[in-house]
Amino acid sequence: MKLLLCTEPTCTDVVRLFGGAPRRCRCGASSGRYLDEKRVEISGPAVILGVDNVAFEAAHRRWADQDAAQVNLFFLPAGASTVERRERRRRAS
Ligand SMILES: [Zn+2]
Repeated sequence: MKLLLCTEPTCTDVVRLFGGAPRRCRCGASSGRYLDEKRVEISGPAVILGVDNVAFEAAHRRWADQDAAQVNLFFLPAGASTVERRERRRRAS
């Protein structure tokens, strides 16, 4: 699972990405979406956080059993092959 972290200091929103229409952070400066099962495209001052899907599901099951559930989150390196950076499209005004 990939999450978008907006690095705008006044925002720092985290948004889960899906396919289809891009999702935006709360300040609107960053957005992203999945292109296929692994690759995402993003725009704006954002970085991608990754969560191992198998570890996430296991933690979710532990939580459902009312156990503490921890899962690791990692920063994808700049230039990761699964992240395409797009220039933000200007909105027509
Ligand atoms: Zn933002």
